[in-house]
Amino acid sequence: MAVQQSKSEIALKGIGVSPGIAVFKSQLLTPHSDRAVQRSISKDEIPFEIARFEEALIATHDQIKHIQKQVAEVLGDEHASIFDAHILVVDDRTFIEDVIRTIQSDLINVEPVLQAVANRYADMLAKVQDSYLSERAADIRDVTKRIMANLAGETLDQMKQIKEPCIVVAHDLSPSDTASINKEMVKAFITDLGSSTSHTAIMAKALEVPAVVGLHNITAVINSGDPVLIDGAKGLVFVNPTESRLEEYRKRAAEQELILTELETLRDKLPETKDGYMVPITANIELLEELEGVDARGAKGIGLFRTEFLFLGSESLPGEQEQYEAYVRAAESQYPSPVVIRTLDLGADKLPTGFENPDEMNPFLGDRAIRLCLSHPDLFKTQLRAILRASVHDNIRVMYPMVSCVQEVMDANTLLRQCMMELSKEGLPFNQDIPIGTMIEVPSAALIADIIAPHVSFFSLGTNDLIQYTMAVDRGNENVAHLYNPTHMAIVRLIDYVVKVSHKFGLWTCVCGQMASSPQLVPLLIGLGVDELSVSPSQAPVIKDVIRKLYYSDAVELAHKALNSSSAGHVEQLCHDLIKKIAPEVLEISE
Ligand code: PEP
Ligand code: MG
Repeated sequence: MAVQQSKSEIALKGIGVSPGIAVFKSQLLTPHSDRAVQRSISKDEIPFEIARFEEALIATHDQIKHIQKQVAEVLGDEHASIFDAHILVVDDRTFIEDVIRTIQSDLINVEPVLQAVANRYADMLAKVQDSYLSERAADIRDVTKRIMANLAGETLDQMKQIKEPCIVVAHDLSPSDTASINKEMVKAFITDLGSSTSHTAIMAKALEVPAVVGLHNITAVINSGDPVLIDGAKGLVFVNPTESRLEEYRKRAAEQELILTELETLRDKLPETKDGYMVPITANIELLEELEGVDARGAKGIGLFRTEFLFLGSESLPGEQEQYEAYVRAAESQYPSPVVIRTLDLGADKLPTGFENPDEMNPFLGDRAIRLCLSHPDLFKTQLRAILRASVHDNIRVMYPMVSCVQEVMDANTLLRQCMMELSKEGLPFNQDIPIGTMIEVPSAALIADIIAPHVSFFSLGTNDLIQYTMAVDRGNENVAHLYNPTHMAIVRLIDYVVKVSHKFGLWTCVCGQMASSPQLVPLLIGLGVDELSVSPSQAPVIKDVIRKLYYSDAVELAHKALNSSSAGHVEQLCHDLIKKIAPEVLEISE
């Protein structure tokens, strides 16, 4: 939605999902399906297109060599030698230079150029009355097909070809595309699709890369090379920013820097309210590289280790030993603070390479998380064994995601016990009393919290999914993002209910959804009696700032008013008023 247009500046408002200000040239990633289509490019895009072509040539060369080797092993050298002709094509500098020159002169993307040049060469050879040369025409067509297939690689490959710092502009990015961003080159990203608690947004926060999503048609508005300014906290994007806009943001960036430097001084201070109520702050991590930042940001321990990102970031599924090493690294880095290892929350938007897509109509309601683990017991047991082996570090806890009925907890516990028996037989040590928790992120689980409670020792409220499933609002869909409302009375009541039940059973309840990372909502959660907040590491200082400026008694009063309210807007206003009163500066730096 364009909100303002001056001479050449275009201002757009999307959903700010990762704070920070960035000004760079844009780099447009072309969606897979559009890449073979002819597209005009700007002069700035020429090096990018040539780099794509050259990478595709290298990949094609390697593939042909590989096939040749396999053929030689199975059918002998004589048959393998036919691929020498293919290698000659892919290495033919005249052909390659012809393609490059045409990209440069006609300013067109590589695919149609390659196709046209290859057709011209092949047609010429086919007309020659010589069987050797006319066969070369077929070679050219074959090899071209292979180069085209390599050019049609995934977004990931395009990302790898970025050689200059830029702001990436894409229709959408998957969580694994985002996980493999090179921060040296990708200084920020903006997308047509997405919303605030999508896993891509979570990943952007984890990497601390400013990002604005849900811009609907930004890929149609921007050309590669256009200068772009983004304000990740407010969700604003300025294409071709004016000099006065740049000046305004230089000042704003300097002010934000000051606030952040001030917040750094809180690192070793306790997360304690003004009237002495302690609310532990732990961290949500997706990647092991984030461990360093946890302590540096003043959080203590890991409230949520999203282990599925170990799987999304790797070419093959990590085995027991690799997982064990990752969990040990997390445990040692945080000792003696707790590390909650959530078992795989795979499925829906988080499917690793090589894992067959189940082709479901409603993947978020499908074979996901604990369901997928229980239907793939080998995969699940490999992880449980790794967690148990790592639990010799007694700060490790295990937690199941997306539980919707008590049977799932019981089945998961049965498999956990089986793994314990196997490890005992093998003489491998583990913690017999490893604390077991469950995510409460499906309304059915919230409403039977009392039935689940006897089977676990802690709860963690996954508000991202709890809101999605309670309100029937897809958390990744920008078209319904306005309906995704954390202050809806249904959410306030469910949190209140779960916390009360957990305390009745002597259980601990953490909030690890994005609500805990939102400064405006933290007083409400504290007032509702939540025992711990697990937040994105980058948000830990600002959350600690809020806690330290808050009176617990005010938080309780806020929660009381919220529970007696009848509208989401009213609850939101109450939260906003309180934060404005106690910590107005945080509104400058948060979404
Ligand atoms: C949640 O749903 O709130 C949660 C923390 O899990 P995830 O965001 O990984 O689905
Ligand atoms: Mg969840």
